[in-house]
Amino acid sequence: MKGSTFARAASLLSPLFSLAQAQEKWTHPGTGIEFWKQTVDTSQTSGGFEWGYALPGEPTGSNDEYIGYIKGSAAGKKGWSGVSHGGGMPNALLLVSWPEGDAVKTTFVYAGGYVNPDPYTGNATLTQISHTVTDDHFELIYRCQWCWIWDQGGADGSQLPTNEVQVIGWAQHKDVPSGTSWTFHNNGQSQFGAQPAQARNAKYFEWANGGGTTPTATPTATPSGGPTPTPSQAVPTTCVGKPAPTGSFDYIVVGAGAGGIPVADRLSESGKSVLLIERGPPSLGRFGGTMKPAWLNGTDLTRFDVPGLCNQIWVDSAGIACTDIDQMAGCVLGGGAAVNAALWWRPVEKDWDYNFPAGWKAADIKAATDRVFKRIPGTDTPSTDGKRYKQEGFNVLSTAFSAAGWKQVKATEQPNEKNFTYSHSVFMYEKGQRQGPLGTYLVSALERKNFQLWQNTKVRRVVRSGGKATGVELDGGDGGYCGTVKLNDGGRVILSAGTFGSTKLLFRSGIGPKAQLNIVKNSIQDGSTLINETQWIDLPVGLNLNDHVNTDTVVRHPNVSFYDFYKAWDGEYPSDSKQYLADRSGILAQSAPNIGPVAWEDVKGSDGIERAIQWTARVEPSPPATDNTSMTISNYLGRGSTSRGALSINGALNIFVSKAPYLQTQEDFDAVVTSIKNLQAAMAKVPGIVFEVPAPNVTVEAYVKSLPLTAAARRANHWIGTAKIGTDSGLTGGSSVVDLNTQVYGTENIHVVDASIFPGHIQTNPTSYIVTVADHAAAKILALGKPSGGTPGTPTPGKQAGAVRN
Ligand SMILES: Cc1cc2nc3c(=O)[nH]c(=O)nc-3n(C[C@H](O)[C@H](O)[C@H](O)COP(=O)(O)OP(=O)(O)OC[C@H]3O[C@@H](n4cnc5c(N)ncnc54)[C@H](O)[C@@H]3O)c2cc1C
Repeated sequence: MKGSTFARAASLLSPLFSLAQAQEKWTHPGTGIEFWKQTVDTSQTSGGFEWGYALPGEPTGSNDEYIGYIKGSAAGKKGWSGVSHGGGMPNALLLVSWPEGDAVKTTFVYAGGYVNPDPYTGNATLTQISHTVTDDHFELIYRCQWCWIWDQGGADGSQLPTNEVQVIGWAQHKDVPSGTSWTFHNNGQSQFGAQPAQARNAKYFEWANGGGTTPTATPTATPSGGPTPTPSQAVPTTCVGKPAPTGSFDYIVVGAGAGGIPVADRLSESGKSVLLIERGPPSLGRFGGTMKPAWLNGTDLTRFDVPGLCNQIWVDSAGIACTDIDQMAGCVLGGGAAVNAALWWRPVEKDWDYNFPAGWKAADIKAATDRVFKRIPGTDTPSTDGKRYKQEGFNVLSTAFSAAGWKQVKATEQPNEKNFTYSHSVFMYEKGQRQGPLGTYLVSALERKNFQLWQNTKVRRVVRSGGKATGVELDGGDGGYCGTVKLNDGGRVILSAGTFGSTKLLFRSGIGPKAQLNIVKNSIQDGSTLINETQWIDLPVGLNLNDHVNTDTVVRHPNVSFYDFYKAWDGEYPSDSKQYLADRSGILAQSAPNIGPVAWEDVKGSDGIERAIQWTARVEPSPPATDNTSMTISNYLGRGSTSRGALSINGALNIFVSKAPYLQTQEDFDAVVTSIKNLQAAMAKVPGIVFEVPAPNVTVEAYVKSLPLTAAARRANHWIGTAKIGTDSGLTGGSSVVDLNTQVYGTENIHVVDASIFPGHIQTNPTSYIVTVADHAAAKILALGKPSGGTPGTPTPGKQAGAVRN
């Protein structure tokens, strides 16, 4: 599901609209500089926050500088304020400022993912024009040069002021930074849309050169944050790790996530040798995981086991989130299936029939579905005492749905009833703990002698000669392996590294659009070792990107009350922790943040296409709502959406969303508007429900239009589609990357089995479908060929091998 958007959450979501009233043209009284300015209210961040900018009168030259204004919150002269020049946190130039005595300090930093940022090594330069520090705030006016284009060791990006709107991100923290180590911002974060046309001014260079009315100091061009950043001379890094054991395998599966675990298990049932390679560390306690809050010390449980701790990923993802992509994804054993909210739905038949090609229709995939749901049936009462906890939100909304004629269903038993229906949430928990593919398929695989799991080992690329893979090259990790691991003759490689990870592996293996492969070729890391251009396979990898379009609405009702799962992490509800530890019951056996009901409807577009909507409610406010009685009801547009985006790679070999797949067609937009109106009509049935977002004086059309169409603002974290399955081979101008056996076109033995092969989106959260696809794909792959048998290598003992504690 989409990330939590409560004040401590990291998903940058704030309606452009909700903040639009706080935008104005404004003249700074001290300097006379005229800014376009955004004010963020104190309800969003204690002490408030202001950011403004002025641009040169004409967009000439490199067009990559501005004069900025920051008014940061700093109670007791403590606090930092950050600005993202790209909107989101990852892959953008970030400017951080804070008071120090009467001075204001600044530094530029950069993060390739949701990780602690590093000092920025590009050439952005900040020149202070004026500053003031009071007991509560600091104010800084600065000239920022080379700030709309950035480059961190080859990871380049830009957001030039050439469009109607620039998306700017902000975050605040209540303390000043210590050295170069950053702690997660704790005083709000969000985004707003800035308007370049309003910021342009012919007097720009006069101001930039210190010609304002009363600058407090003569401007001096001092790059901020201490010593001038020197652009790093990036050199290829060498693999850090132990030499890989010798030996070879019939099947090598890369990535132990929702797709990789089941496909590896099912392949190993055949008796052939299977190696599953995962770049991340163990997650659940039974596999040797150790990450946990203090109250779990002395138990076999980790943060991943406990349903109520799932949302901690949004405030503390170090060592868990992938560091080489610009979206949130789990790079641990289990991938998304270890970190997600575990929503688990029996698939809707229409999703297969509408999206998938022959051999993958509902009737074809029924046997796999039955196998999956026999192993992982899902439960709507995850607490072991069979009770549901804190159901006020469900009760209020279901009263409204029911009064409006929506029908309550039991989703586990009525999967196809998805039009004007609602249900309790269903989760892949069992016995009060996370299970899913980890607790089933991985357990059975690890019992087989012909199966091996290597953790903490990144795969760099598929080693191939022409269309034939001979093995995979490893990239090490914390205790992991380096070197090459070989396939037996007749063996196959299965990429299950997720939509971002498999796209990256294909690019690094010389498979994808020429423009992307050229970036890899020109990269310092892979340039000299990338497979020769004569062997590149030109396929539309990275295209056809899709995600559920998320549009948040917010209602409140006095019966509803927020339960702070983040405080539960800190052990602030000892009776709930105790209850959970005693017998896996209570609210902590349910996913944060109190999810449900989940509702569905289908909306027919003027193009004749039926579009599927899922509504996911949770007891948690979203900006601008802050009330403890608020509920966010997220609208996901799925099956039938006709918008598509793209993933690209940059010179630092990070994968990013280069084109967001949201609401590019009028019919997609209309479907979201219609469904929100349907929700409003239902909620109006209960007089005590107050619709907060969209606000009563705003039309639904205006509201939906006002939200940025960026990943940071609209993602649901349900990325699919970049290695599409289909019969129209991309080699001959079609849109598909893999054939009906999941084999990459133009290859003999390279497969992709994960979310990236989905041709289009589905109605519900995707994990159950991905597991089903993997189970089905394994049968097809096994039917393809008869690998020769082999001699699986013996891993050297250590934490990377599948150390299992059942
Ligand atoms: C925070 C969050 C909440 C979510 N909530 C839900 C939910 O409640 N219900 C639901 O159905 N879906 C949810 N999703 C989506 C769901 O988890 C994903 O769609 C699903 O996990 C994708 O499966 P996958 O197999 O394609 O990739 P993943 O599950 O991401 O697995 C990919 C694996 O490959 C590994 N890998 C990547 N690159 C390499 C490499 N080079 N070498 C070795 N290993 C590599 C990764 O570490 C990872 O373990 C959520 C997602 C997120 C991020």
